[in-house]
Amino acid sequence: MQIWNGWGDEQITMGLPPAARELLRERIGEGECREDISLQEAIDRVPDSRLPDHVLITRDKKERLVHSHGQSLPDWVSLRQGGRGRFPDGVAFPTTAQEVQDLLRFAAKRDLVIIPYGGGTSVVGHLDVPATGRPVLSLSLERLNRLISMDSSSRLAVFEAGVRGPDLEAQLRAYGFTLGHYPQSFECSTLGGWVATRSSGQQSSHYGSIEALFAGGEMVTLKGTLTCPPFPASAAGPDLRQLILGSEGRLGVLVNAIVRISPIPQSDRVWAVFFPSWEQAIEAVRSLAGARVAYAMIRLSNLLETVTNLTLAGREKTVSLLRKYLGLRHVGDAEGCLCLVEFVGSRRQVNGQRRLAFPILRKQGGVSVGRAIGEAWKHHRFRAPYLRNTLWGMGYAVDTVETAVTWNKVTQTMKTVEKAIAGALAPWQERVHIFSHLSHVYSTGSSIYTTFLFRVAASPEETLARWTALKTSTSRAIVRAGGTISHQHGVGLDHGPYLGAEKGPVGMEILRQTFANMDPEQRMNPGKLLERQDDETRGPA
Ligand SMILES: Cc1cc2nc3c(=O)[nH]c(=O)nc-3n(C[C@H](O)[C@H](O)[C@H](O)COP(=O)(O)OP(=O)(O)OC[C@H]3O[C@@H](n4cnc5c(N)ncnc54)[C@H](O)[C@@H]3O)c2cc1C
Repeated sequence: MQIWNGWGDEQITMGLPPAARELLRERIGEGECREDISLQEAIDRVPDSRLPDHVLITRDKKERLVHSHGQSLPDWVSLRQGGRGRFPDGVAFPTTAQEVQDLLRFAAKRDLVIIPYGGGTSVVGHLDVPATGRPVLSLSLERLNRLISMDSSSRLAVFEAGVRGPDLEAQLRAYGFTLGHYPQSFECSTLGGWVATRSSGQQSSHYGSIEALFAGGEMVTLKGTLTCPPFPASAAGPDLRQLILGSEGRLGVLVNAIVRISPIPQSDRVWAVFFPSWEQAIEAVRSLAGARVAYAMIRLSNLLETVTNLTLAGREKTVSLLRKYLGLRHVGDAEGCLCLVEFVGSRRQVNGQRRLAFPILRKQGGVSVGRAIGEAWKHHRFRAPYLRNTLWGMGYAVDTVETAVTWNKVTQTMKTVEKAIAGALAPWQERVHIFSHLSHVYSTGSSIYTTFLFRVAASPEETLARWTALKTSTSRAIVRAGGTISHQHGVGLDHGPYLGAEKGPVGMEILRQTFANMDPEQRMNPGKLLERQDDETRGPA
C-alpha cells in the first residue's frame, strides 16, 4: 500500500549506514526528529465538501487528503507537520474517455476547477489546490491504465494515460517490447504525467525523453477532443503534440497516448569510471557526447556526490579497497569523481560502443573499476527515493533542483547553483549539504541535477521559510546563469515565476492566449505554469 505522507510503498524502508549519519552530522549538524501529525489529525483538517452529488465523484475525506498534494517539499511539510490546508472538494476516478468528457461538462456547468491527477509525484507544486471560491475536483487517471492496442510492425503501442511505469512495462514486456522510460519516480508516476510534464528517463540518451517517445494521442479539452495521429513525420504546420507535452493539466486531460516502443535489448550494462578531477571528468564526457558514441546514460557525480554515494552504500571495507586501488592508479588521495556509463543493445553493440568510449575516457585520466558499482546502482535505482522517508524521520529534509545549459556554462552554473544554496540559510545559521551530478548528457550541453539536505525546523512555518529561501535563491541563480528553469521536472507552481525569463514576452503571450482561448474561465489546473511572475527575473516588459 502506498504511504499517505511520504514516498512509495509502506512496506519498504531504507536504512542509513552509520557512516552516512556521521557525514550528515559533520556537515549540517544533528537532525532532530519532529513528530508527524497522524493520519486521523490530517483527515480532521479536511473541511466539508462544496461539491454537489455526482455518480463518478467521491467526497471521502481520506481520498481528498491523498489527492491534495504531490511530492514537493512544501507538500511534505504540509503532510508531516501540518500547515497549508487546501484540499480538493472531491475526487473522480473515471474509467473511460467518455466519463472524462462527462466530468469536464459537469465542471463547466457547475463552475468547478479541475486538477488532473496522475501518479501524484510532481515535485514542483503541479497538484497544489488553489485558494478559490469555486469547488475543486481532482480527476484521477488511476483507473485508465490499460494497454489499448499494439502495432508491433510500426513499433507503436496505445495506452490509457493513467498507466504507471511498472504496469506499462509489464504489459509491453509480454510482447517482447519496452518503452525504456525510467524516471526515478518510475514506480508511482504515470504515462500521462510524463507527457504533461515533459519528463526525462534515466536512459533518455538511448530511448529519448518523453517528447521523442510520445507519438500522438487524445486529449479531452473543454472545447472537445484534440486528436494527434502517430504520423512517422509530418510537415503539416506546427506539431500539436508539442502543445500537449508540458501542458501540465492546463489544456485538458490526456486520456490515451500512443508511444514509440523498442524491442527489449539483449544487453544492458553499466560501467563505473573514476576521474581524478571534475575538470578532467567533464572534458571526458563532453568529448564522448561530441564523438556521438551511442551511450544510453552518462551520470557524472561531482566530488561531494561521489563521497556521499559511496558513504550511503555502507560497504566500508569494499570502499576502502576501492580507495586504495584508485590511489595506486593515480586517481588521487580521495576517490575523485564517479562516472556511470551505460550501453544498451545487442551484446556486439554494447561491446563495440564500450570499445569506442573507453579510450576517450582514459585520455582524461578515467580509470574503469568494472561493472559492480554500476550494476548495484541499476539494481537499487528506484529505491533511492525511499531515503527521503528515512531522512525525514531523522530530522533532515531533502530536495533537488535541476537545469540544463550548454557546455560552455556547465561548470560555472553548477558552482553558482551550489553557492546560492550554500548561502541561503545564513539567516538561520543553518548549513546545507549539497552535491550535484550531470544526468542527461547531450552533444551541445548537459543537465545539472543538484541535491540538498537541510535540517527540518520545529514548526511547519519555519521549515517552509527555509525551503523558500533555498528555492528562491537557487531558481534566481539558474536564471542568471542562463539555464532553463527545468530540464525535467516541469514548471508547476514553484517554477512559474521564472518562466517569463526563458520564454520572453512574445512567447509568454502566445502561451497565455492559447490557454485563455481553450479555457477562458481558467477551469483547468489554474495557477500552474503561467500566472505568477517573479519581479527579479521577469523578462523585459
Ligand atoms: C522521487 C522522485 C523522483 C523523480 N525523478 C524524476 C525523473 O527522473 N525524471 C523526471 O522527469 N521526473 C522525475 N520526477 C518528477 C515526476 O515524477 C514527474 O514530473 C512525473 O512526470 C509526474 O508524473 P505523475 O504521473 O506523477 O503526474 P502528477 O504528479 O500526478 O501530475 C503532474 C502534472 O501533470 C498533470 N497531469 C497528470 N496526468 C495528466 C493527464 N493524463 N492529462 C493531463 N494532465 C495530466 C497534472 O495535472 C499535473 O499538472 C521525480 C519525482 C520524485 C518524487
